[in-house]
Amino acid sequence: MYDKSVAQLVAGLRDKQFSSVELSRCFLERIARLDSTYNSFISVDETAVLAAAGAADKRIAAGNAATLTGIPIAHKDIFCTDGMRTSCGSRMLDNFVPPYDATLIAHFNREGAVVLGKTNMDEFAMGSSNENSFYGAVSNPWDTSLVPGGSSGGSAAAVAAMLAPAATGTDTGGSIRQPAAFCGITGIKPTYGRVSRLGMVAFASSLDQAGPMAHSAEDCALLLNCMAGHDPLDSTSSELPAEDYCAGLGGSLQGLRIGLPREYFGDGLDTATARCIQDSLKELEAQGATLVEVSLPHSHLTIPTYYIIAPAEASTNLSRFDGVRYGHRCANPVDLHDLYTRTREEGFGAEVKRRILVGTYALSAGYYDAYYKKAQQVRRLIKQDFVDCFSQVDVIAGPTTPGPAFALGAKSDDPLAMYLEDIYTLAANLAGLPGMSVPAGLVGGRPVGLQLIGNYFDEARLLNVGHRFQQATDWHQRRPATAPGGTQ
Ligand code: GLN
Repeated sequence: MYDKSVAQLVAGLRDKQFSSVELSRCFLERIARLDSTYNSFISVDETAVLAAAGAADKRIAAGNAATLTGIPIAHKDIFCTDGMRTSCGSRMLDNFVPPYDATLIAHFNREGAVVLGKTNMDEFAMGSSNENSFYGAVSNPWDTSLVPGGSSGGSAAAVAAMLAPAATGTDTGGSIRQPAAFCGITGIKPTYGRVSRLGMVAFASSLDQAGPMAHSAEDCALLLNCMAGHDPLDSTSSELPAEDYCAGLGGSLQGLRIGLPREYFGDGLDTATARCIQDSLKELEAQGATLVEVSLPHSHLTIPTYYIIAPAEASTNLSRFDGVRYGHRCANPVDLHDLYTRTREEGFGAEVKRRILVGTYALSAGYYDAYYKKAQQVRRLIKQDFVDCFSQVDVIAGPTTPGPAFALGAKSDDPLAMYLEDIYTLAANLAGLPGMSVPAGLVGGRPVGLQLIGNYFDEARLLNVGHRFQQATDWHQRRPATAPGGTQ
């Protein structure tokens, strides 16, 4: 059961080949046996899992099941779960048990899906390697000496190692797509505002977006159907009705215009990775798509722009963690100032502190115009590059990352080298566009991802391109040899 796609599990439950309790037990057993190797989960509540699975089985027996009823799904530990710790990978929230569910979790509960557990992540979603977690680093199931990517590294590793059939993640600058690429799975960051942010711990509010991570585009479509939609409690949630993302799967690619930004194929891209991307593009071309060279002339400004805007917004969002309201509080504060400083000194890790310092500086009086305002102006130019491109093409394609997964520890002392990991993913967040990564090959046994960026609210088209690609290739069906039961 553990190696099946969500689509197959949905059919298996419907046809009574197995029950949700059996299915959930299978994944719980794998987590208990194997996750000491990967460290992909922070919390798993077996009793709650089996209770939810039992309720799902009753619902299936009563004949009123929804599509995902009984399917176990792992959730990034950034989403509030009523009565279950939500740590966001931080000591600051190690003791935080939310009194409510994030809208996204509520959607899955309404559908009768089972919360399998909460996955490891970089602290407050800041990172590209999952090494910034208070709960320790996560290992890549393809090679446990490598990082799984970040910040949704726990979700990606859990799916790749078949400890969960699918997971949720969040993407502020690449945190769904980059770990999906490194772990050989499929992940989509929808358009900004497509999925509610209510109950999702805020990192950079104008960039954060939640999305599904699974083995295939089809499975991502099944999850996105449950996640997407307007939320009156999130003022940045789009009022545009969500589509049925499964309905268009299988449509022809004949006449599809795919833009290849010349800036995404230049210096800095690993040659073996580039070859995988070129081969993937040939496959799409064979299915009738036309490849068109395009340009995103402000691409070189995405890293500096993001690393002003994201820390600025983070410094504001994280000011709420003061030891007064909830989360960590230092012992025996002598006065209010001592309470604030020691709580934050103890509660936050090094990368989070670095971002708070950068963001506070960028927003301070006298520097606001030079940094935050300037970055917002450049952000507009980056967005305009995409608007211009989408007047010529239907989707944009390129690599998700400059190369495959790197070794644990290789970049952890060099924040700038780590930030360069995000070079191809940040722009979609700055522009608010949907972006997806699909497995596109192996380089020395390490997976690489093809990135597809779509126009606003064009998730259905992206998913279809990914699905058509996966009907013709088997990269998404490869499983890491370190995960017992897996075959290369
Ligand atoms: N790697 C980027 C960062 O560290 C993006 C993280 C994310 O998307 N949450 O900010």
